[in-house]
Formats: sequence, structure tokens, C-alpha cells
Amino acid sequence: MRIGSIINGKERKESNRDKIEVQNPFHDEVVAELALATRVDVDEAVRNSFDTFHGTMKGMPAYRRAAILRKAADLLEERMEDFAQTITVEAGKPITFSRAEVERSVQVIRFASELAKNITGEVIPMDAAIGGENRIGMIKRQPLGVVAAITPFNFPLNLSLHKIAPALAAGNTIVFKPAEKTPVSAYKLVQLFHDAGLPEGVLNLLIGTGKETGEPLTTHDKVHKITFTGSLPVGREIRKSADFKKVTLELGSNSPNIIFEDANINEAVDALVKGAFSFSGQVCISAQRIYVQKEIYDQFLQQFIQETEQLSVGDPKETSTDIGPMITEEEAKRAKLWIDDAVEKGAVIQTGGDRDGTILKPTIMTDVDRNMKVIAKEVFAPIVSVIPFDTEDEVVGYANDSIYGLQAGVFTQDIDRALRVADQLETGGVWINEVSTYRQDNHPYGGVKQSGLGREGVKYAIDEMTEMKFIGVKLNGK
Ligand code: NAD
Repeated sequence: MRIGSIINGKERKESNRDKIEVQNPFHDEVVAELALATRVDVDEAVRNSFDTFHGTMKGMPAYRRAAILRKAADLLEERMEDFAQTITVEAGKPITFSRAEVERSVQVIRFASELAKNITGEVIPMDAAIGGENRIGMIKRQPLGVVAAITPFNFPLNLSLHKIAPALAAGNTIVFKPAEKTPVSAYKLVQLFHDAGLPEGVLNLLIGTGKETGEPLTTHDKVHKITFTGSLPVGREIRKSADFKKVTLELGSNSPNIIFEDANINEAVDALVKGAFSFSGQVCISAQRIYVQKEIYDQFLQQFIQETEQLSVGDPKETSTDIGPMITEEEAKRAKLWIDDAVEKGAVIQTGGDRDGTILKPTIMTDVDRNMKVIAKEVFAPIVSVIPFDTEDEVVGYANDSIYGLQAGVFTQDIDRALRVADQLETGGVWINEVSTYRQDNHPYGGVKQSGLGREGVKYAIDEMTEMKFIGVKLNGK
């Protein structure tokens, strides 16, 4: 299968473009050959998007945008199995998790469809200011124009829809650059939107790499907004070069989870096994640092190891598989080096630690410290550390000792303590009696510190993809 960019509804597969292949991370199989977008393609995609915004999109009423989104959700539901298989083949995600991702994606489009008809404004009490009598002030929310949407490999469908669906609901046009490791589901998604009746040019697709395609897209002067999900170094570059463009950055994390001595241990262990190892830990809010109060540390660790060792590791196409491959062998090697580095500095592997090709066994480490990469950096691999603590103040300090701040988990039966700790954690979100890795698609989601800027979660993304317009009226003759 060869795929190329889709600009104004036309696919560009021509053979003079550079090509790369998408590899299946588990089976020795080429999933697709990509005709990479050139800088000329990027420029044409953005200009077409700009013209389509001023031509087609500005005139499209909210009920029509809502109807297209509704149809797209129905089509995705019909094509669910094909999308799930595509994600499994291109990303190596275990099939049950791919199915769950598609199910969530359908909901994301439905949320956007409902919200498209509810983008409301405000009326300002103008007479609150001296001299403001006989004036009316109102705020309308207007679309921004061209939104550049850049997405990572780990949730290739759902994270793309967290950008595309709200952008469409708000009435923007989009130039969409998915990760070059997982572009096939993105390609099928753009076709699906066209099948749902989206006019050509509203959603343009660029198939390409970060440097050659992503960079000219984010620096193009006709782009009004960049919405990026991916790694910290790329996010930082985008922010620096964004100039006056609006920017949303959804970046990485080394998420802390805190287990107090009164927590329900069985429930905490279940949640943390899922939350540390789902999709081989390649989740931005994956549980990476688990702090356990000393009174229950031994019991927690023993149960956590036992349950982790029951996970089935293998072929992502099998429904019985919990843990599949990492995205590439280089990534698995990198993660293994981080384990070795920690062990050299005194850490202990409680289970796992072995690598075979792209598969890294679920790994639990103890005796770690803040100078090890497995603690200080984002591991983005099936590696988790368990660390004992004494007091509430102490653990809040540990949890906040990070450049990141995306989401955290707190396990306790004491509501006062739960809310006190939640208030003090320096993260965009906190779950109580749930693992940091849990996310629903309708709550505000995003980071503080170097985990990012702005929020997603359809309603909140719509806020960020619209601009306030103030309109004041002075009543004549008064
Ligand atoms: P990545 O940063 O390598 O790539 C993400 C996207 O950026 C890709 O489409 C890539 O081609 C593009 N890109 C790369 N260089 C670019 C440049 N110079 N200019 C413009 N675009 C460029 O990330 P990845 O490896 O695909 O994904 C993993 C990262 O994503 C992790 O750090 C993870 O935490 C983060 N992530 C964050 C969230 C969140 O919501 N906060 C969700 C998922 C993943």
C-alpha cells in the first residue's frame, strides 16, 4: 500500500517524492510505503486551507458542521474493526487496546458534534462602568482560521481526533500532519471525513517527517494556530518559532502515583498494573513513579510484582495479549539502556528487565533515586519504579520534584487528605483512587510546567480554537 498527502481532496502519490516505509513493530512486514510531502506540498496545503477557510468554511452553519461530525462518528463506528486492525498493525498496540481507542474516538467526534451547536458567547453588563449607560456589549466566539495539527504515534487515531474534531466543530480548517510511524489510520481518517461529506480542502493531510514537513508547517505564516502532541524537545522548538500563532502543547510526563497506608491495596494494584504497562508504557500519563507509604510498602510491592508477572506478553494481534512491542527496536534498546544505567547506580530490578527485539518485559524497579533517568526523565516504556515514603509532606515533595506536571494519582480512603494532596500536586489533573493513566475524553486535559500549554478535552479544545470577538453597541438617541 502506498499513501501520500491529501490536499484539496486529491492524493499526491507521485513517484518523484522521497519515500519511507512504515514497519510493523512486531511482525517483519512493511505496512505502507509513504510518498513524503515536500516543502512545496506544505505550502500548497496551507494556502489551500487558508482559501477554504475564507471560501467554504466561514459560510458553513453550525448545524451543518454538527451533521458532518455526526456522520463521521457513525462511519467510524461502522469501520471500527478496520481502524482497530490498522492501529495494531502500524503501532503494535494490542488489539483489545486498539479497539478501545477506536471506541473512544467515536465518542470524541460525537462530543464535538454536540458542542458544534453550542458555541455560545456572553453579554457584558456595560453599565457597570461609569459612562457605560445605554451601551450593550457582547462577546462572540469566532474560529481562528488554519489550524496545524501535529500528532504522535501512540494514540494515532484518538489524539488526532482530539484536534480535528474540535477544530471542525469551531469552524476552522485543518492541515493535519500525523506521526510518520503511524500514518495509515490518519490517512483512512481523512478519507472517512470526506465520505461523511466534509468539503475538500477543509481537512488537508500531509504525510511526512518532523523536520521536512512538520517544521515548515508550524512556521508557515498563514497558519493561525498550532496544536501539537508529542515530545518535549519538539514542543519547545515549536513554541520558540511560533511567533504570534496560538499554540497548544500536549507533551510528556513522568507521572507520580501516591498510595497511602489506608488505600484499598487490591484496587490500587489492579489500577497501577494497567496504568504502568498499557501499550508498553508508551502513554504520556503512564504511571512511572509509584510512592507507597512505608506501612504497606512490602505488601504492595509483593502484590504488584505478582500481578505484573501474570501479564501476557506477545503478538499484539492476539486478543489475549496484554503487552506487545515498543514502537521500534531503537526505542526498546534506549529503554533497556536506561534500566542498565539505573542498575549501575544502585537500583534493583524486581521483575522484567529483559529485551527481545522490540519487546521489553514489564519491568519494576526499586532502590531508585532522583538522579536516575528512570525517575528524572519520561521513560515512555514498560518501566515503573516503586519508592517508599513516610509522611504526606514528604511525598508531595517527591511527586513535585519533576520538570513535568501532567496527571497524578492519589490512593487513600481519607477524603480530607485526598483533597489536600490534590491541591498541592503540581499537575494539570489529579485522579483520586484512580491511576494517573486514566483519561476520559470530555474532561480538561493538559499539563503544567514542561508538560505543556493549554487544554484538550473537546469543549476545552474548542475554547482554544476560537477567539473572542467583542462587539459593543451604543444605543442611538439615548
Ligand atoms: P515526537 O515529538 O517525536 O513526534 C510527534 C510529532 O511531531 C510527529 O508527527 C513528528 O513527525 C512531529 N515532529 C517531529 N519533529 C518536528 C518538528 N521539528 N517540527 C514539527 N513537527 C515535528 O513524539 P512521538 O515519539 O511521536 O510521541 C511520544 C511523545 O508524545 C512522548 O513524549 C509523549 O509523552 C508525548 N505525548 C503526549 C501526550 C499528551 O497528551 N500530553 C499524548 C501522547 C503523547
